[in-house]
Amino acid sequence: MSYVLEIKNVTKRFGDFTAVDSVSFNVEDGGFFSILGGSGCGKTTLLRMIAGFEQETEGELLIRGESMKGIPPERRPVNIVFQNLALFPMMNVEKNVAFGLQRQKVPKQEVQSRVTEMLERVGLVGFEKKQVTELSGGQRQRVAIARSLVLRPSILLLDEPLGALDRKLREHMKIELKLLQKEIGTTFIYITHDQSEALVMSDTVAVMNQGHFEQLDTPKNLYKNPATSFVAGFVGESNEFDVAGYTNGELVTANGCRLVKPGLDFEPKKLFVRPEAFILNPAEDLSDIERIDMTVRTILFDGSNTKISAVIGQSNDEVLISLPQNAQFEDLKEGDAIKVGIHHDDLKCYRD
Ligand code: ATP
Repeated sequence: MSYVLEIKNVTKRFGDFTAVDSVSFNVEDGGFFSILGGSGCGKTTLLRMIAGFEQETEGELLIRGESMKGIPPERRPVNIVFQNLALFPMMNVEKNVAFGLQRQKVPKQEVQSRVTEMLERVGLVGFEKKQVTELSGGQRQRVAIARSLVLRPSILLLDEPLGALDRKLREHMKIELKLLQKEIGTTFIYITHDQSEALVMSDTVAVMNQGHFEQLDTPKNLYKNPATSFVAGFVGESNEFDVAGYTNGELVTANGCRLVKPGLDFEPKKLFVRPEAFILNPAEDLSDIERIDMTVRTILFDGSNTKISAVIGQSNDEVLISLPQNAQFEDLKEGDAIKVGIHHDDLKCYRD
């Protein structure tokens, strides 16, 4: 297996504060790897250590098998695209992209051919002489990426580059970036607090929390099998229940539901259920299914999806349930009593 990046027990402390806490992981060459986490979890610090802007307090970082200890940012085979893009506003597109090559004293003819090739790859042919101030947000993104990729880094680091765009353009750029990475084949390491960006674009996602990785997995596995309660709550929508007890394969939630969940070898404290895991009015003969009585509180229609907010039994605890795109439930209304089923496998239990 060829790893472009190996991170071995890397820790970063600022005084007494540990921003990155003994993190270890490898990144395969040519993939799209995202680090997903909330504000202050340490993802920028980790990225800055890979780029060489920050020195690790402990541990080791290797790129293509070579230790980066003491190697300054400009001598590392990585490039970084920042959220503000940091383009040169006084230069046209071509000059922005050529800048790094000229600084490296690459011969003029080679600069020209590499810039031309790169602008073709990012779909900016015809924009060479435009000032960057005349471009749209998405086009500026592509200039920033071209300017970095033209230097042929082993890794392109992207620090929330879609953060400043409006929602529609962001949705569009997610697809563009994913396709561009696949076409070019350079390893992308992308940091974001936006789970949808991470899930849509990445081959692998690391979920970061308080300086450590909670789970490193494919987007699908992160969603389907969250390893910790933090991931279950952070990635995607989930209903969270406190568990009051577990005996003989049956758990009791704090709001009084009794649910059979066979085979746990630990005492669960939290239970998570995805809104789409609930089955409304399940057929009587379905086995392996737990059933809960609920009352519809309100219907939440947002165009492409419909959810209902329901309450369990006599409690006030709200549960979100996704409705299938199915005319069968169109008549549901506030106050209706419903029976809600859940497969045992969809009861995700955690010890804390
Ligand atoms: P955000 O998405 O808000 O940028 P982040 O996950 O990128 O968050 P970091 O910027 O890596 O977080 O910061 C992690 C923690 O380390 C934060 O609590 C931050 O205050 C702290 N920190 C970062 N840089 C320094 C520094 N130079 N000196 C002291 N503390 C720092």
